[in-house]
Amino acid sequence: LPTIATVIGSGTMGPGIAATLARAGATVRLYDISPDAIARAEAAYDVVRGVLESVDSPSAPGGSVSFGTDLDAALADTELIIEAVPEKLELKQKVFADLEARIGDDVIIATNTSGIPITTMAESMTVPARLIGMHWSNPPHLIPMIEVIPGEKTSSELVDQLIEIVKAFNYVPVLEKEIPGFVENRVLYAILRECMALLEEGIVTPEGLDACVKWGIGYKLSVVGPTRLLDMAGLDIYQAVSGYLNKDLDASTDTPQFIKDKIAAGQLGFKTNGGMYEYGDGDVDAKRKEIITGLIAARKTLASIP
Ligand code: NAD
Repeated sequence: LPTIATVIGSGTMGPGIAATLARAGATVRLYDISPDAIARAEAAYDVVRGVLESVDSPSAPGGSVSFGTDLDAALADTELIIEAVPEKLELKQKVFADLEARIGDDVIIATNTSGIPITTMAESMTVPARLIGMHWSNPPHLIPMIEVIPGEKTSSELVDQLIEIVKAFNYVPVLEKEIPGFVENRVLYAILRECMALLEEGIVTPEGLDACVKWGIGYKLSVVGPTRLLDMAGLDIYQAVSGYLNKDLDASTDTPQFIKDKIAAGQLGFKTNGGMYEYGDGDVDAKRKEIITGLIAARKTLASIP
């Protein structure tokens, strides 16, 4: 694990990333251009630390997080920079230019992009070999898996190095070839596309859909994974079903109209107290807590089985 690491961007993802590395022993500087974002992260830090403790996230003494809006201070002697600013190509390229003007050629820049090609982002860089995709799953301090995505110019030594870094804080690195959306989001969006089509056609209620997917798919896949599931089911069974079912599955290429309508009506989900479900006073906070409690319990259980 690098001794000193810097996380750029303290929004949804940055604080959990910083806390995970710090608990594993790194000195982490969390930087944001927004003083408000830094203040929010600092105020919420104890909660994040508590979550890491309750899942027995790997720990080593000496780690810490410092919070700040001074970029030079955040970068002093850093070995690894993790970029977690909003998902906009031009913004990320500008951030990389600001970073490269201040750091030595051997400093790693890992981007938490959800799907912008690494090769495209690296085009404007002075040292494109130092850029690599490091895609954490949200919440980053709870999901112990990271997709590692080299671009065309990423050095092969850096790929090996990042895999070792991820293993050093006991997360599972998954090495992938570059593809839009990367593997996790491609699979998730394939599931979501079919789910939204089933709702739109009125085949099932939202409550029914959630119950079916949580137990019938999520529960099982959290233990065996899709490849092993096929062995369990039998490849012949898969052939028999996929032979008639695949052609019937939703193949639309745009966002469903009913989702667009909800957005136009200001229904975005938790952040507007309504989206797919409606939330009364206090319901969103209660749901958020319930989800974190569930994730903690499930991770502990999953960590205890081979
Ligand atoms: P966010 O909008 O919650 O936070 C981004 C932060 O970056 C904000 O606090 C903002 O003030 C700050 N910022 C903006 N410009 C900056 C600059 N020039 N320098 C420093 N900080 C700056 O975003 P997020 O959800 O944390 O996502 C960050 C990245 O992680 C994105 O690329 C996103 O696609 C990816 N990601 C997000 C999730 C998720 O579920 N939210 C999951 C995996 C990956």
